[in-house]
Amino acid sequence: MTSLNLLERLDQGPVICAEGYLFEIERRGYLQAGAFVPEVVLDHPHVVTELHREFMHAGSDVIEAFTYYANRDKLRIMGREDDLEQMNRTALTLAKEVAREGDALFAGNICNTNVFLPDDADSKKVARAMFEEQVGWAMDAGVDFIIAETISFYEEALLALEVIRDSGAISVVTLAVHREGLRDDYTVPEACKRLKDAGADVVGMNCIRGPNTMLTVMEEISKEVEGPLAALPVPYRTTEKEVNFQALTDSGCDCIPDRPFPTALEPLTCNRYEIAEFAKKALALGVQYQGVCCGAGPHHIRAMAEALGKNPPASRYSPDMSKHYALGNDARLVKENIEFAEKM
Ligand SMILES: [Zn+2]
Repeated sequence: MTSLNLLERLDQGPVICAEGYLFEIERRGYLQAGAFVPEVVLDHPHVVTELHREFMHAGSDVIEAFTYYANRDKLRIMGREDDLEQMNRTALTLAKEVAREGDALFAGNICNTNVFLPDDADSKKVARAMFEEQVGWAMDAGVDFIIAETISFYEEALLALEVIRDSGAISVVTLAVHREGLRDDYTVPEACKRLKDAGADVVGMNCIRGPNTMLTVMEEISKEVEGPLAALPVPYRTTEKEVNFQALTDSGCDCIPDRPFPTALEPLTCNRYEIAEFAKKALALGVQYQGVCCGAGPHHIRAMAEALGKNPPASRYSPDMSKHYALGNDARLVKENIEFAEKM
């Protein structure tokens, strides 16, 4: 076990959790967009280990087991249901190993089931069973806490929370807020408040919205809900008109098959400075648990960490343009090159 648990760490200051493993590993060519199932955990485990290490090096205080969508329904659709338990147990082992290399917390993960329907009692039973088996494997692995994420029904989030709570684990519950809010008739602040009252340790939002359109909702949440709060946006430039990354359009390109989501979002990506801005603004709202979701790269995590006053190992290589051959100002640079900078 690490020295302090999640809640003790949050008492001391912000905690960062890198997410977005699906998108990053898809980009690297080890995971298929569409179904987005983390088969890589069994097929190429070293890729998962490496990304865990990169995120920890960049400042993630949490190593989240890559069990997103490693649930029974998804694996059944992929014809890999027999691999379900091994995929979960392996993902948990990979995350734990990296977390223990440093001083990171080791988190289990459950997510939107895509079978839950508010008016269908049978669907709730199926969703509960999916949560229970994944939470059981996480507890066997000795997780420090469990994240329930990217859930867009309040009632499904509550179900996930109940399963985590019954296991005795510390819980982080983050909601996925689409264009028209949650998929059942709760406002986001109301849902967060209810989850908190039901025993969630940390509540908030993750995925779907970029920094700007997540902050507006977090501001409402912060007025009604006691912290600690969580916010983990996608690093894309969502706007008042296009509030979520599924809705984003790209006027600079007409060769995309459908829409930029999910495989052509690169030109709409936030730079590291925008993520740093988000981190500071979110902290000012009292958001102590921060991260970046789908689309996150280690440079985003490092920028967030530095904006929150941390000094991760990767900061050893943070930009220093003073030594750039033409744009720098170091006395040892060749002056002709510095003059040439005006023509660059
Ligand atoms: Zn995401």
